Amino acid sequence: MNATLLANGTVVTMNPSREVLRADVLIENDVIAGVGRNVSGPLRSPSVSSGVRTLDVSGCYVLPGFVQTHVHLCQTLFKGQAEGVVLADWLNRIWALEAAHDSDSMRASAALGCHELLRGGTTCVLDMGSVHHTDQVFEAVRASGIRAFSGKAMMDAGDRVPPGLKETAEESMSEALRLHARWHGAEGGRLNYAFAPRFLESCSEGLLRSVAEKAGEMGLLVHSHASETADELADCKSRHGLTPVGYLESLGLARPNLALAHCVHLEDDDFKILAHSGVKVTHCPSCNLKLSSGIADVGRLVREGAAVSLGADGAPCNNNLDMFHEMRTAALLQSLKNGSGYPWAALFLEAATLGGAKALGISDVVGSVEPGKKADLIVIDVSQEHAFCGAGCDPATRIVFSARSSDVRHVFVDGRQVVAAGQIQQGLHAGSSSREVTSNAAGALERLLARCA
Ligand SMILES: [Zn+2]
Repeated sequence: MNATLLANGTVVTMNPSREVLRADVLIENDVIAGVGRNVSGPLRSPSVSSGVRTLDVSGCYVLPGFVQTHVHLCQTLFKGQAEGVVLADWLNRIWALEAAHDSDSMRASAALGCHELLRGGTTCVLDMGSVHHTDQVFEAVRASGIRAFSGKAMMDAGDRVPPGLKETAEESMSEALRLHARWHGAEGGRLNYAFAPRFLESCSEGLLRSVAEKAGEMGLLVHSHASETADELADCKSRHGLTPVGYLESLGLARPNLALAHCVHLEDDDFKILAHSGVKVTHCPSCNLKLSSGIADVGRLVREGAAVSLGADGAPCNNNLDMFHEMRTAALLQSLKNGSGYPWAALFLEAATLGGAKALGISDVVGSVEPGKKADLIVIDVSQEHAFCGAGCDPATRIVFSARSSDVRHVFVDGRQVVAAGQIQQGLHAGSSSREVTSNAAGALERLLARCA
């Protein structure tokens, strides 16, 4: 039995009462065994109380790990490689780079992304791969210790798609099913497969219909983008006579198992469809600002009953994978768009934790600090000057507006400590030091760019 006691912290539980407790948290193996005072004391079994490792987390918040519901680990190498452009030009550049990936560069890219995510307190992601080398993404995820849903990008249509990424609908589905068979449920359920039709422009109607059918039969998530730019909205209406959200609904994809990134350019009916169908909207505020795409009306989505979570999107359109940045940016944008009177900090702290877990259908497993759930936990040290907040301080305000990813001290996934004192645990996997991961990434990018030249 491995047991760790996080002692003397302030626990932001995200439980049904949204309690914030001065309490200890006991981790036994992969689960949260207790939250409260004396959870490792006489009330617990003697074997636990005698063998428990104690981490004093006074002055820290203990939180459920962040769940980012839209990232592209395959793009982490490409930070700084597509600057100063809007989405259409950005995609042309990024697709050319994705097409030049080999197994080594893909693995280096995903490893780099996992490290950044874990050190910043993200313990679970919904990831969209590229078309090829998706096994390498899963290998890197497996080695890193992060919890992930991932899937190959499906791209069987579109004039702009480079030949290296173009596939037939049959090839795309066949590879997706092979990856599903190999990886879904691996590592005791820490790794899972999600279908990832990239977006409407790159997917034929036949492929989208087959994804809807298979995902329904197999009980899998579908992960896609929609309504990111005004041009995409106009193009979809001219080709299909429907908005992207309306078109997805017409194909049978607007269901609770669909995680849809962006939803910036929505018409009135789109809000209703998203709310009533149970589609999970992933808000990516930094990416939407950097690519000049627009500001999603999250306030209206929430008012109408839609589920919203957060993601950094691809590293080169951000250029971070930092949930603190996304929570803060999202709260600031909605304060501007919908008024400062709403508790945006609380809303986006929830979107970053329990909301993400709900989007992935795993809120019975992670997303809050409650006994019986998996021990996906983070410890944030808020004792430094920038995070000062005196009497009556609201933890959500402090975490969203003042705390930083560099304040993350400890991170646990499945009860395993993957970050200790702000550092990736040495020995997590071969080549796992920060120096090795960044050095591998630099070398892999250099070789990849040479292949592009
Ligand atoms: Zn994306």
